[in-house]
Amino acid sequence: TITENMSEGLLVIDKKTDILSYNSSALTLLGTDLTPNMRSVFTLNRSYGFREVVDKALQGGHAEETIFINSRYCRLYSNPVMQGDKIAGAVIVILDITEKEERDRLRREFSANVSHELKTPLTSISGFAEIIHNGLVKQEDIKKFTGNIYDEAKRMIALIDDIIRLSQLDESSFVEEMKDVDLQSITREIVERLKPAAEAKRLRTEVYTEALHVHGVPQILDEMIYNLCENAIKYNKDSGSLSIELKKAAEGILFSVSDTGCGIPYEDQDRVFERFYRVDKSHSKEIGGTGLGLSIVKHAAILHNAKITLSSVPGHGTKIEVLFPVTA
Ligand code: ADP
Repeated sequence: TITENMSEGLLVIDKKTDILSYNSSALTLLGTDLTPNMRSVFTLNRSYGFREVVDKALQGGHAEETIFINSRYCRLYSNPVMQGDKIAGAVIVILDITEKEERDRLRREFSANVSHELKTPLTSISGFAEIIHNGLVKQEDIKKFTGNIYDEAKRMIALIDDIIRLSQLDESSFVEEMKDVDLQSITREIVERLKPAAEAKRLRTEVYTEALHVHGVPQILDEMIYNLCENAIKYNKDSGSLSIELKKAAEGILFSVSDTGCGIPYEDQDRVFERFYRVDKSHSKEIGGTGLGLSIVKHAAILHNAKITLSSVPGHGTKIEVLFPVTA
């Protein structure tokens, strides 16, 4: 009963590799439904890693290997079973480590992306500075070149701010800062802050808000709403429109932003919440995107138990809704 209730897989074999005992987790993890009593353990799996751990244990050693079965990573641990000074068989324990592997992969990918994203503006800054330093720029062009340096430096600062915010969200160190937050004031204040950007594109902005509060972190909610509204402006067409709503719905408090912009291609819609994911890399850089905005939105939603829904029609526009539970 004990081994049947383990989530780890367990196999006990004799020295001829025949199975003496097993639990159902072992069969599930190895992706087989054979009834393996008294068969060779190799009927369950024949991969190199599996054979290695079995062989090493039967030679008296301890072995560990990771194998990939049915889209999952399994870590195998084996040890010999001794009878006096003779090897009588082996015990193999199997752990599903898919989530850990996935986390490690994301972390590696994130570090590589951060380095790349920071290096790009820094290379430009260094290039412009070098040309000026070597006296290759005419006096009248100095303003343009230093302007470029200033823009690239601002881009780096924006990136670093977003990265810091994301790592704070990862550590979820905000729980103590949760308090009653007036979403209506935050929304109105953000609309004011973004007014110049909306006017520059001659956008018609409709704002409808109700006096609603949630339990949350003011700074994070501000950032979440700001990112969504800013995207609705950045990715909008000239003379388009955007609509921002905050209202009480049957299921909770609903905040939504819709725009008449370029929309998001269907195949990218699941991915835009990933870190550094941008639909159009070159254009996004031009309009000042870091590719981290929606990822911050996603983590902010998780922190507040809110649910995000994206609906977007390429060429027509995008709507993003955030539903906060009433008790949040
Ligand atoms: P960025 O800083 O590049 O705007 P985000 O994480 O905020 O990064 O968004 C990721 C990508 O999703 C953007 O690069 C853009 O391609 C797409 N996107 C986000 N919001 C919208 C929108 N309202 N309309 C069209 N595309 C959008």
